[in-house]
Amino acid sequence: MASAFSKVLKRVADILWPRVCAVEGCGRTSDRPDRHLCSLCFAALPFHEAGGACRICGALVMAETHHDFVCEDCRNHPPAFERARSAVLYREPADQLIQDFKFRKATWLCADLTDLLEAAVRSKLPAHEIDVVVPVPLSPRRERERGYNQSALLADALARRLNRRFDGSSLVRVRETEHQARLSGDDRRDNLRDAFAVPDPRYVRGRTVLLVDDVMTTGATLSHCARPLRAAGAARVWCATVARAVMNART
Ligand SMILES: [Zn+2]
Ligand SMILES: [Zn+2]
Repeated sequence: MASAFSKVLKRVADILWPRVCAVEGCGRTSDRPDRHLCSLCFAALPFHEAGGACRICGALVMAETHHDFVCEDCRNHPPAFERARSAVLYREPADQLIQDFKFRKATWLCADLTDLLEAAVRSKLPAHEIDVVVPVPLSPRRERERGYNQSALLADALARRLNRRFDGSSLVRVRETEHQARLSGDDRRDNLRDAFAVPDPRYVRGRTVLLVDDVMTTGATLSHCARPLRAAGAARVWCATVARAVMNART
């Protein structure tokens, strides 16, 4: 009854305040219920296709690959996670949407971005084996400044969709770090050393953990999060991000 009533309210709200598609320059009204991207823009997002990718980090490679292919980065610096997969490339308009979500308080984009995450997890990972969904934590100071942790919003929404437990407290950030975006290569790796910890391993021990973040660049952040999770006894750490940066140089 309550849900029928809320559906009617939503229909009324849609008529009174139509949701204009969140993609800049589109101008259409969103035709996806409770979503802010229209179906045309959603279908035109730069999807990160599965074929020809590194078995570990999911990096796309141009050449034909066998299913066990491991990229040069993962061979030189083996990450602490077993697998990382992303939904879209960090290109227009996905980059704009994520920046709005992350820096400009456009938290209403959460359902659209979770659609992407959910589709990637279900198609690229054995989703039924996931026990717990854990977000990459922000430092308390940064979370206070921003008002929310964008990765926690995504992880919470994804956990509901997958019917898995959301755990926003086992993995914590124990020290402030420079913005990763300002650093490159080795500096990114060093910057995050011992930045994350699992003070209470009870909820991750023996579990398959899905670590969630908005964007994966080099994978350094995810790897530094995966390490204490593994040390705390997590059986496996997989990662899912909405977007993946495509780098020309290895930064
Ligand atoms: Zn649109
Ligand atoms: Zn790789």
